[in-house]
Amino acid sequence: MKFVLASGNAHKLSEIRNILGNSFEIISMNDTTAKGHEVIEDGTTFEENAEKKALEIMKITGLPTIADDSGLCVDALGGAPGIYTARYAGENATNDENIDKLLANLQGVPFEKRGATFVAVIAVAFPNGTVKKFRGEVKGKILTERQGANGFGYDPVFFIEEHKATMAELDGEVKNSLSHRFNALKKMAEELSL
Ligand code: IMP
Repeated sequence: MKFVLASGNAHKLSEIRNILGNSFEIISMNDTTAKGHEVIEDGTTFEENAEKKALEIMKITGLPTIADDSGLCVDALGGAPGIYTARYAGENATNDENIDKLLANLQGVPFEKRGATFVAVIAVAFPNGTVKKFRGEVKGKILTERQGANGFGYDPVFFIEEHKATMAELDGEVKNSLSHRFNALKKMAEELSL
């Protein structure tokens, strides 16, 4: 079955395609009539935002649509930045600005208290209006400085203790076998069993 991805983020598209493999055909919303459409993410949870994105794009294209809402929840910051992860340092903030703000807010916090969780919620909206949602998580620690050049977003400061490496130091295939997005997509693939 063909799905539209309700995102213009090329990294997310390639991660999702790699994780799902050949059983799903995923096209970017940029290759549909929804190109350039901006969904206002005004929900209060990852679930609400993912559902809103999936439904809005599905209604434009008429095609089954997958949306991902993801972010970083840091224990020492009471779960922040959470749903505000992409715009932590302000609207249109760059990855570097967001990471700088995170590191500044965690200054002086010792390693053992720097626990964090990457969360991904995948919502799938079907043309009949049905929406299914799947949540995936991965636990790590926020380092005091960047390490590695792979991946995107907060990957350079998100350290996976089991691998003694940040997400940005892991090979793409390894990241895709343990990430929050992988865990959510695995549940989706199992339930839709296409
Ligand atoms: P969204 O695109 O509105 O879901 O925003 C999610 C934000 O969370 C992104 O802009 C990234 O900064 C961050 N994020 C989500 N997934 C990852 C990941 O796998 N690695 C690093 N950062 C991520």
